[in-house]
Amino acid sequence: MSAKSGGPTFEANLARLAPLLATLTAEGIGHVIDGQRVDGKRTFETHSPADRSLIARVAEGTAEDIDRAAAAAKRAFKPWSKWSPDKRRAVLHKIADGIEAHAEEIAVLESWDTGQAYRFMSKAAVRAAENFRFFADRVLEARDGRSMPTAEHWNISNRVPIGPVGIITPWNTPFMLSTWKIAPALAAGCTVVHKPAEWSPVTANILTRICREAGLPDGVLNTVHGFGEEAGKALTEHPDIKAIGFVGESATGSAIMRQGSATLKRVHFELGGKNPVIVFDDADLDRALDAVVFMIYSLNGERCTSSSRLLVHAGIAETFAARVAERVGRIKVGHPIDPKTEIGPLIHERHFSKVCSYFDIARQDGARIAAGGTPFAGPGGGHYVMPTLFTSADMSMRIAQEEIFGPVLTVIPFADEADAIEKANSVRYGLTGYVWTNDMGRALRVADELEAGMIWLNSENVRHLPTPFGGVKDSGIGRDGGDYSFDFYMETRNICLAKGTHAIPKLGA
Ligand code: NAD
Repeated sequence: MSAKSGGPTFEANLARLAPLLATLTAEGIGHVIDGQRVDGKRTFETHSPADRSLIARVAEGTAEDIDRAAAAAKRAFKPWSKWSPDKRRAVLHKIADGIEAHAEEIAVLESWDTGQAYRFMSKAAVRAAENFRFFADRVLEARDGRSMPTAEHWNISNRVPIGPVGIITPWNTPFMLSTWKIAPALAAGCTVVHKPAEWSPVTANILTRICREAGLPDGVLNTVHGFGEEAGKALTEHPDIKAIGFVGESATGSAIMRQGSATLKRVHFELGGKNPVIVFDDADLDRALDAVVFMIYSLNGERCTSSSRLLVHAGIAETFAARVAERVGRIKVGHPIDPKTEIGPLIHERHFSKVCSYFDIARQDGARIAAGGTPFAGPGGGHYVMPTLFTSADMSMRIAQEEIFGPVLTVIPFADEADAIEKANSVRYGLTGYVWTNDMGRALRVADELEAGMIWLNSENVRHLPTPFGGVKDSGIGRDGGDYSFDFYMETRNICLAKGTHAIPKLGA
């Protein structure tokens, strides 16, 4: 243990990881359907982005596997949806206990599988437990509705779970993100078929194991691994799956909408972003600097809410960008499970190539590379890049418009409030916006004008779970968080009771 922080050391994390990897490599990763391991007819390999070593062979889901999982979820739905709220609440709390008990295992495996730095994955594992606790405590109110009386009738609404649902998740913080969707679905009384991302399959079965140990009945949570084009597609097309909760790229969201149209699937999309952080010259620039650096260089910049565009007041643009560049130059890139590491390797060779391609695109478009702009020779020889800062950019450039999804920030100066708003909004996305100013009137005016689902004034992304989470424009459809999640996983029904006094039209009388 490190004497100073009390947290695990790099050596302790390596020692924790070794036996977990030995088991995974020996046993491989199967689907979990109706509480049983199911091995696919085909498998694919998952490798660590740190050194490209094989982690495990993973079952590659087919339409047949999805069909089996959907049937299990359908069978389990009625009994699970009839569980008393108290009983359901208790089992969800037990799942949270189990996640907490295994948080270190989840964190090191997730870091090794995704390349995300351990310092962030250990927090993500704890947040996964919080997601379960938060929704566990709301089980009792999930079915609540409204009373809407008239003179001669009472109208009473209530909510019932929609049925078996499909949940499709991305690779950037796989375990935590999956719980953000799965916990409210289970709390609502739905059963789930989860399709984790093919680049990060390693921790999904830990969740099914914890759920089983906590007493979740078989078939309530099923996991089918595999590729989006086959297993994911089959899930979105399955007639017994009533809704799809999806987190991933905007283009995949469009495909899922098409695929789900024949079965009139209800969809909830959390998609991409190219989020602005706007820094005015009257802001607390020290706090703004910390937030700007954190919100793009944490989690490898592979974060939907990252502020990947720094819009900065022209008068301070040069000095502020120089301060960012100085901090970026000191960010520690390294082995993902080393607790000192701030940026780890990027998840996959293809993603690494995509991020690196923007170094040339930036140059060709006339931007300047003020920091980074190259791969990094990190430990294990994996997919490391230097944290990168582009300056001399404008909104016409691809680095100002496209989601790069890496530790890469584009600085764009603005002239005044109107120009800042115009630049912030001139992208296809609208997930988050961040504004730094000490003029509260200005902060509120800008917040009113920003086209984004979530806006933070003088703050980085600090989440409060009851608040609505989601995007506008190409960044998503629907909201998660608190009661908003229940609106998605449940049907609202109205029951109308007559007092026996109203006149009924008499046909043929
Ligand atoms: P992706 O869209 O490539 O894949 C996400 C999931 O969709 C994977 O499980 C994949 O197998 C599956 N999939 C792919 N094609 C499919 C299809 N045709 N039918 C059904 N499923 C299919 O996204 P990614 O590269 O894994 O993740 C990165 C993206 O996720 C970024 O754009 C990021 O902004 C976004 N993201 C958004 C949020 C948010 O809350 N808005 C959060 C995290 C990540």
